[in-house]
Amino acid sequence: MLASRTFNRLITPGRLPVFKRKMHIESIPMWTGSGNNYAYLISDEPTKEAMVVDPAHPPEVIPVLKSRIESGKISLKAIINTHHHFDHAGGNEGILKQFGKLPVIGGKDCYLVTKTPKHGETFKIGERINVTALHTPCHTQDSICFYAEDGDQRAVFTGDTLFIGVGCGRFFEGTAQQMHTALNEILANLPDDTKVYPGHEYTKQNVKFCMAVSQTEPIKQLQAFAEKNKETQGKFTIGEEKLHNVFMRVNDPEVQKATGKTNAVDVMRALREMKNKM
Ligand SMILES: [Zn+2]
Repeated sequence: MLASRTFNRLITPGRLPVFKRKMHIESIPMWTGSGNNYAYLISDEPTKEAMVVDPAHPPEVIPVLKSRIESGKISLKAIINTHHHFDHAGGNEGILKQFGKLPVIGGKDCYLVTKTPKHGETFKIGERINVTALHTPCHTQDSICFYAEDGDQRAVFTGDTLFIGVGCGRFFEGTAQQMHTALNEILANLPDDTKVYPGHEYTKQNVKFCMAVSQTEPIKQLQAFAEKNKETQGKFTIGEEKLHNVFMRVNDPEVQKATGKTNAVDVMRALREMKNKM
């Protein structure tokens, strides 16, 4: 009886049943209207195991986590931090106070960190989600992007290293060479269909900068999307970033012309200086 009921529920008339397990990603916006940050809850649906990325503002994150836990949707296993800045790692203490002693996986300077994975080191969320730590020092020296895969679903959590449209936050602790390596060697080498989940919603402002550098069709399309949509996280892929993100187009003659440089690292440095002035 139970078996047939379960079976019936999985069949939608006219469609084949979908048994595939899926990684679930929920955005938790924080400081909307000022910092426009995102925390992300990554969960493995069959085991309900979950980890939360950059839960920096406990008053906005705790109610969401509590409701998911109380409704039996998740079992929270760890905090993941992309870098040590307060608006990313500053909520660790409050989250641990609320949910007990969880591992904190992040860069070496993150508050209360218990585990700093090496570059390329992997860990699991539940049974299927495989997460790889990608060291991308520049914005901070402890910046790590986390690449998560579940079958054909791929996502990368980039903190302040890569945003939609423009790469990278300010080079607080690093160099243009490091940012070039992070964006154009490490992140650019991920599969093109990897969805990008940055630490902030900056797309609308970012695309103005892109337009000032180069008015290509992909950039115009990004601008149109940002005009219509308040949230852009998880909507664009690494493949699309390579088309509309000027920081990932350092070899594009138009971007080189706009910066007056030809060497990739010089173009990167010039773009950041232009962006800082905007
Ligand atoms: Zn930061």
